[in-house]
Amino acid sequence: MALRFFNTLSRSVQDFVPLQPDAKRAGLYCCGPTVHDFAHIGNFRTFVFTDLVRRCLEFKGYAVRHVMNITDVEDKIIQRVAETKASLREYTAKYEAAFFEDFQALGCLRPHETPRATDCIADIISLIGKLMERGMAYRATDGSVYFSIEKYQARGGRYGQLLKLNFEEMRPGQRVSSDEYAKEAVADFALWKARVPADGPVFWPSPWGEGRPGWHIECSAMSMKLLGPSFDLHMGGEDLIFPHHEDEIAQSEGAGLQAPRQPFVKYWLHGAHLLAEGKKMSKSLGNYFTVRDLLAKGFTGREIRYLLLTAHYRETFNFTLEGLQGARTALGRLDECLGKLREAAAGATAPPDESLLQQFTAALDDDFNVSAAWGAIFEWVRNNNRLAVSGGMRPEQAAAGLAAWQKIVSVLGLVPIESAGIPPPCLALLEQRETARKAKDFKRADALRDQLKSEGWIIEDTPKGARLKRF
Ligand code: AMP
Ligand code: ZN
Repeated sequence: MALRFFNTLSRSVQDFVPLQPDAKRAGLYCCGPTVHDFAHIGNFRTFVFTDLVRRCLEFKGYAVRHVMNITDVEDKIIQRVAETKASLREYTAKYEAAFFEDFQALGCLRPHETPRATDCIADIISLIGKLMERGMAYRATDGSVYFSIEKYQARGGRYGQLLKLNFEEMRPGQRVSSDEYAKEAVADFALWKARVPADGPVFWPSPWGEGRPGWHIECSAMSMKLLGPSFDLHMGGEDLIFPHHEDEIAQSEGAGLQAPRQPFVKYWLHGAHLLAEGKKMSKSLGNYFTVRDLLAKGFTGREIRYLLLTAHYRETFNFTLEGLQGARTALGRLDECLGKLREAAAGATAPPDESLLQQFTAALDDDFNVSAAWGAIFEWVRNNNRLAVSGGMRPEQAAAGLAAWQKIVSVLGLVPIESAGIPPPCLALLEQRETARKAKDFKRADALRDQLKSEGWIIEDTPKGARLKRF
């Protein structure tokens, strides 16, 4: 079955057919973090979902090129740079490094490219230059350069492709924002922001004077630089649909770099928000947890990832600590079942259980229906438990289940992070030791610990669970 999902551009569920279907390649861009502070788990809901999409595509045989930008220049960052007297790079480096640590703790695969806006100023200036040449941008009396929606539309550009906009409310000549008073129309947006005293040392030279790039142009410049003027998939949280993504389309198609009748992006995929107490989790509301807040409470990245992957991406989802506790219990059941299967398989090998794999892939192919995917997995867990109790689990059957699980887990990305680089048989011994401990069979638990030691691994019992370390 083909992968299908909801394309915000067509407002319908569509089959995924990449721009170069024969090459089985897919270009994927996701708007990355603004590194002014630690990211919260709401932000990570979007990044974990993007990681799932990438892994699904790879599972289906696509060679994915995944790009995620780092927004390292914007108002809040400039304000913090002024307050802390650090340089821009010194200030953002700390949060960028923290972001990637958290990203890894949640089992996300590192994108192939992670360009920083400040490393792409020349590309941004060149794109603004093209828009100026084509008469779609103008320099206003405040020295800033704006994108003209009127001129874009006059040349056939379609503004409002992602969202039906009320242009009556955006009549030219109105003024809204005090720091953008010079633009000709309310809906016009800044491509280049002229330097003001509050920017301190944060500015770059440009043909239009010193200043810094607007946020939207960064993503157009970086995505087209690394994926070409037309690419397959663009992702982000639903709050980015307007104006950020709408403006990205206008700038990128306005520059006219695409081949005739080719769009800037074929599929737009937006994730719904993570809520806390019924409201969007956000820094400004103060209702947020960072990944490190939750790790400090003893939860693991794997448990957070699991929880974020239990809800359908188009549904808002309320985060609670009880929910995270529930994620721990569910993963515990799954791990216990895997431990039993490893014991039952006793070294046997078999091709993957096709029925389980088929149910799992059919669910994800259907607009990333994770609920149906988890339904199939936990049904399988229940069956395994029944067979284990009745003693009816054959080694080949256990091995087939484990082989299917290996594939499933490569898509869900729920491998214990601590297990990276540890041989699977040793992991199996660790799981058996955990099962024995839970069953208070300390003799067996100690024997398994000694066996691991003879293989060169020692067990470290941490608040986050048992881990293996090289002896
Ligand atoms: P930012 O660092 O604010 O630029 O946001 C990074 C990403 O997180 C963007 O794709 C946002 O749409 C997304 N995001 C922000 N808040 C939430 C939330 N509460 N739930 C899901 N995604 C979010
Ligand atoms: Zn963006």
